[in-house]
Amino acid sequence: MANIRVMVVGAGIAGPVLATFLKTRGYDPIIYERVSSPGESGLSHLLQPNGLRVLSLIPGLLEQMPGHSPDRMIYCSSLDGKEDILVDNDTSPDTMREQFGFPLMGVRRAELHRLLIDTAEKHGVEIKWGHQAIEFEQSEDAVQVTFANGVKDVASFVVGCDGLHSNTRIALFGKEKADFTGLVQFGGLSPTPAALQGNSVLLSIYGNGRHMIAYPVVEGKHAWAITTREAEAKEDWKTQNVEQQDEIRRGPLSAWGFGAGELVKTGQKIAKYGLYDRPELKSWFKGRIVLLGDAAHPTSPHLGQGANQAFEDIYHIMRLLKKYNPSAGQPSTELLSQVFTDYQDLRLLRTSELVRGARKQGEARVVEGIDACRARDEVIRAGSNDDAAKMAQYELFSGPFKDSEM
Ligand SMILES: Cc1cc2nc3c(=O)[nH]c(=O)nc-3n(C[C@H](O)[C@H](O)[C@H](O)COP(=O)(O)OP(=O)(O)OC[C@H]3O[C@@H](n4cnc5c(N)ncnc54)[C@H](O)[C@@H]3O)c2cc1C
Repeated sequence: MANIRVMVVGAGIAGPVLATFLKTRGYDPIIYERVSSPGESGLSHLLQPNGLRVLSLIPGLLEQMPGHSPDRMIYCSSLDGKEDILVDNDTSPDTMREQFGFPLMGVRRAELHRLLIDTAEKHGVEIKWGHQAIEFEQSEDAVQVTFANGVKDVASFVVGCDGLHSNTRIALFGKEKADFTGLVQFGGLSPTPAALQGNSVLLSIYGNGRHMIAYPVVEGKHAWAITTREAEAKEDWKTQNVEQQDEIRRGPLSAWGFGAGELVKTGQKIAKYGLYDRPELKSWFKGRIVLLGDAAHPTSPHLGQGANQAFEDIYHIMRLLKKYNPSAGQPSTELLSQVFTDYQDLRLLRTSELVRGARKQGEARVVEGIDACRARDEVIRAGSNDDAAKMAQYELFSGPFKDSEM
């Protein structure tokens, strides 16, 4: 009997990983992606132990990961010309592995994306580029999807991995505007500044009305992003034009200490993009169509959990498919409803909590006024010794499984 065809909409970060798992578990996945080829857009991701734990289930993938792990995570305050270290943690791969099983790893998005696409293709997954899904029609035992170029295709069930502007989500639950958080980021890639050479450091710098995060993504290069409150900017991850990039390189941010100013001055491919999320949905599926990753729970990036939570979604949906459909046979709508209900019950509240947490973290990062900033900095300093915060981090990094049930 032929394997069951599953359509994955979107070949971003989640789609290729999901399709790889589906293929290795006896399904016949096909990915449809809106853009015509994988591009260079985007900056970087900080992969965290919970996300890496899921990726480790694809044999050989982590060994090829083109990333870099920070040895130290340093939180600093830069206020009124005065610089102060608030927190300095050992995050070396050995320490992280000992505590959480996996390290932190900074990776350029384009390189991570290429690796995940290659991995899916090596496992025999077909990817149809240049196909934007626009219409979804469900019948008793299948879904027909129509693409903007007129192509139609049918699959047993569909997983919408089509990101912040998901048409799958619109088809299921109607159109609503993405929520602009009021914050934008400028980000780029730079040679590791002299101040940080010899140390592989993740820097988190808290200023007056702005914040910078910077971490190594390859030997000798740091990716960085500055968050600030500004007028709404498009979320397209596109590089600024030459004049705009020069303006940022020469602007006030280039005077920051701790090597941050140097990162701004030497920044390449500087992009500016608005930060968005969406309100929590009541449900993530209808019939044979389900949402995953940013399509279900888009988030602002301040907890670094966007991609990592998408990987957790994938783990659970694959685990539940195995539980309810161990032979990977043609699933009834009732069976899929069991899988998708368990999945959303487990994931919806958890991811909503993280989306709200990321918003809160973003607001703290752009606090204005010296007194308010000093108060914030004290909270950060104290937080590094707070047992509840440490426990929350332990739980986050220890997810989504101890022994895989996938
Ligand atoms: C170009 C780009 C660059 C990014 N850069 C960064 C970054 O530097 N740092 C960061 O933290 N986050 C970045 N993100 C967001 C980040 O990838 C996600 O937050 C996260 O990894 C979750 O992945 P996802 O697969 O759910 O969504 P995404 O990675 O956003 O993938 C969604 C995919 O679906 C495709 N798609 C959309 N609509 C349709 C449709 N109707 N039919 C078919 N395909 C469709 C999109 O083109 C995209 O490839 C970027 C997203 C994009 C699209």
